[in-house]
Amino acid sequence: MLHGACSMSCLFCITENTLSEMTPKQVEEVLEIIKGRDMESVVFGGGEPLQWRYSLSHSINLAKTMGLHTQVGTNGVGLTPNVIENLNADRYVIPLDSNNPQVHNYLRKGFRKHYDIIKGRLKYLTEGRIPFTISTVVCKINLDMLHEITAFLLHLWEKGARIHAWHLYRFLPLGRNGFKNADMLNISKNEYFDKTEEIKKRDLPFFVYRRPNMQLSKEVDFFWVEDGHIKIGSQVWREKKSPYCLCK
Ligand code: SF4
Repeated sequence: MLHGACSMSCLFCITENTLSEMTPKQVEEVLEIIKGRDMESVVFGGGEPLQWRYSLSHSINLAKTMGLHTQVGTNGVGLTPNVIENLNADRYVIPLDSNNPQVHNYLRKGFRKHYDIIKGRLKYLTEGRIPFTISTVVCKINLDMLHEITAFLLHLWEKGARIHAWHLYRFLPLGRNGFKNADMLNISKNEYFDKTEEIKKRDLPFFVYRRPNMQLSKEVDFFWVEDGHIKIGSQVWREKKSPYCLCK
């Protein structure tokens, strides 16, 4: 997580305002930790990584020279063709929370026509045969809309999109917006697993990953800077025990 800043204000944003900016030197340190753990892939995220004031392409190149697969997890707003060419990441992670523009734009506050921007970015990535992953935050508002997103992704697939995976994140009542919007967005564990199971059963041509709580993931770790120091999610969250209980 390169920093916490973002020009959007999604209703479910779990980013903490306490995140500081990572320097390029700290990015290098994090990449060395990742390599030291024999991890294979790095996702540059935030906040919004394309608003990081240092050179993201430099950090991507460095990760590549270290043999890591590189991804950029972006809200898509700044992901113009020129930026894609300049970054040259192996894959991009793009949000889509509903195939209904009004619902998507309601959840993804900050750009009135964010849905249209995302559609444009996906068209470009599809036509350029550039790999991407879709992320969806599953919450009370879009819980019954996952099949419409599936239909749209299948349509892109038929057009040649190199969709690596679809990540279905369960809404968590955490962070700068998730906490305050919990009453409006929260879903139970059963609701989440029932609805996402319907999607898993469809045997789609790309991976479908359920992400009920990334803070508990054994495959993914998080790195950020707070008070000038690099923090590691697996240490911070597991020591504290996550404040969010999956049994709710
Ligand atoms: S969830 Fe939305 S507001 Fe939060 S960092 Fe991502 S794009 Fe920005």
